[in-house]
Amino acid sequence: MIRAGILITGTEVLTGIITDRNGPWLSEQMRAVGLQPAQITVVGDRPDDVLNGLKAMREQNLDLIVTSGGLGPTADDLTAEVVGEFQGREMALDVPLEGRIPAILKGLSSRWPNLDMESVLAANRKQAVVPVGSTILEPVGTAPGLIVSPGGEQKGPIVIVLPGPPRELQPMWRTAIKTGAVAELLSHAPTLDREMIRMFGIPESELAASLRKIEDDGVDLSRLEVTTCLRRGEIEIATTFESGDRRVYASFLEAIEQIHGPLIFSRSEATIDDVVSELLEGKTIATAESCTGGLLSGRLADKPGASAYLLGGVVSYANDVKTEALGVDADLLSENGAVSEPVARAMASGVLSKLGSDLGVSVTGIAGPGGGTEEKPVGSVWFAVTDGSDWLVRDLVIPGGRADVRDRSTTVALHLIRRFLLGEHDDPAS
Ligand code: ATP
Ligand code: MG
Repeated sequence: MIRAGILITGTEVLTGIITDRNGPWLSEQMRAVGLQPAQITVVGDRPDDVLNGLKAMREQNLDLIVTSGGLGPTADDLTAEVVGEFQGREMALDVPLEGRIPAILKGLSSRWPNLDMESVLAANRKQAVVPVGSTILEPVGTAPGLIVSPGGEQKGPIVIVLPGPPRELQPMWRTAIKTGAVAELLSHAPTLDREMIRMFGIPESELAASLRKIEDDGVDLSRLEVTTCLRRGEIEIATTFESGDRRVYASFLEAIEQIHGPLIFSRSEATIDDVVSELLEGKTIATAESCTGGLLSGRLADKPGASAYLLGGVVSYANDVKTEALGVDADLLSENGAVSEPVARAMASGVLSKLGSDLGVSVTGIAGPGGGTEEKPVGSVWFAVTDGSDWLVRDLVIPGGRADVRDRSTTVALHLIRRFLLGEHDDPAS
């Protein structure tokens, strides 16, 4: 494995003023070219902190480091200098690069006609001062990137120095991996594949037990890097492996299928939203939402081409709206309360007949923080899916705060729609 580190510089990232977009992006890109990302470190703009971040990565024997940020023309942009010191290379003016700077700045001067070009040029001359022997990556904005190998007798990682703005960093990364010492390093990288399994309806602890069993049964999990993650109530199993180990992955997938088959809803990158949108082909759907307040129709509408199946929805938050817009019987509401099985059913069949869809789906619950009772605590939610004759009706108590309850309810509703469309219906006798 060729292991790589990512060093994000910038006080604005460290303090949380802006969210790091480069670290996760680079990590994903590294995996795609067969590198194993080992860490993402965020440091401020202080040169000592940047240098220590680099040294810590060298101590861990990483083969490659990518830095982001601090390449601009201002005095606090010091990354190139620090990387030069780290690699034991002097700084020197790169004359050809200096000669290209006026052309690079031309775009800038046409956008800011009143700019004092002389002082801009002087400031940007600093960007042509680079560690001796570095490979220069042509700028996408105004800052050139660098590939800097260890100088002299020094051993250690190659450093790719990239600017902070993501729209500059991303194309320059693509250039860097095709250039010089980095291309040579990557030629030794294995091809890494990634596969995804998505499940709904089991706790993560149960999955951990399954993984132990699968290993005991002889699947060589040391050949696979299996990451499980609980996200928005679903479990994601992302597995990275060398292409040569595809058969090990196949036996892993088979073992997971054997234990948890019915709970798996995706064996690819497809999310529940993708799966539902595919299953809805040739059908129409309408939503009646109370506590989710439109989140469900929003998720259904997120997919391009949603107009083929999503007719519309009614956000029936108030009881009067449930009665007037959906035709829910007022007595039903006063006898059972809005968060109840009969009301969930009436909302789903109501929206189905009002909008004339093939499928009606409803969500009604208590998102909190107020409104809970002993009998119906905060997080109690009823769901109904119907096509006018068959039904799938469920209730759950969803943990978490208001936002969690609303988000999770939306996901549960999508899973119920999927199961309904796959032919799972309640027994009419019950
Ligand atoms: P510039 O020439 O634009 O100054 P630079 O390489 O010096 O380039 P920084 O000064 O570190 O880059 O960052 C410039 C801007 O780029 C930041 O203000 C921010 O908007 C964006 N940026 C920097 N780093 C990140 C990051 N990790 N994630 C998202 N945006 C970033
Ligand atoms: Mg800057």
